[in-house]
Amino acid sequence: MLYPHYRKTIETVFNTKVFDNYGGEGIMVSGQCEYGNYHINDTNLIIEIVDRDNNPVQKGWMGRILLTDLTNYSMPFIRYDIGDLGQLKAGTCECGRGLSLMKQPKGRDTDIIYLSNGNYLIVHFFTALFEFYSEVKQFQVIETDFDKLQLNLVVTEDFNCQLLKEIKFKITESAGMHIDIWENIVDEIPATSSGKRRFVIAKKRNG
Ligand SMILES: [Zn+2]
Repeated sequence: MLYPHYRKTIETVFNTKVFDNYGGEGIMVSGQCEYGNYHINDTNLIIEIVDRDNNPVQKGWMGRILLTDLTNYSMPFIRYDIGDLGQLKAGTCECGRGLSLMKQPKGRDTDIIYLSNGNYLIVHFFTALFEFYSEVKQFQVIETDFDKLQLNLVVTEDFNCQLLKEIKFKITESAGMHIDIWENIVDEIPATSSGKRRFVIAKKRNG
């Protein structure tokens, strides 16, 4: 996932503009044009956005991405659940390409924390939140139980209780309910066995 702070760093260091693509399982789903919109590769695939019960959601709403590849005859993907969250986007793009639009994918569907009041917290919320705190060098949010979060933080020496209180307040505010949050100041956040560092680890749910 290309997070805004990755994009900023890459564009600064290499003095260039980043164009992001989205795809998986050999399916090229969408790519950014010069206006920053993600154009869907409509001629090669069908993309559907569905809720947890596999019903289509309204355009602009977030849901799970299902892909049907129209060109791969040797390995058919039909309504394939790629495990990502995304949103379609209404309207057309100024660039003039007729291809339909989607928003930047929102990460893995396992990276979403569903709350008991019906709200949810997604990885983009946390990356945007912690971007404001240079005192936090790395973070990881683990949903240990329903409405309970553990924050693993790698911090600088300027980090303090006041900042922590502020961070917890912002998470609670976005959740729209009381949730238990406790912090765990660590030296480093280990990568998973695949070598990726996960920002959010949601609790596994049955069904
Ligand atoms: Zn465009």
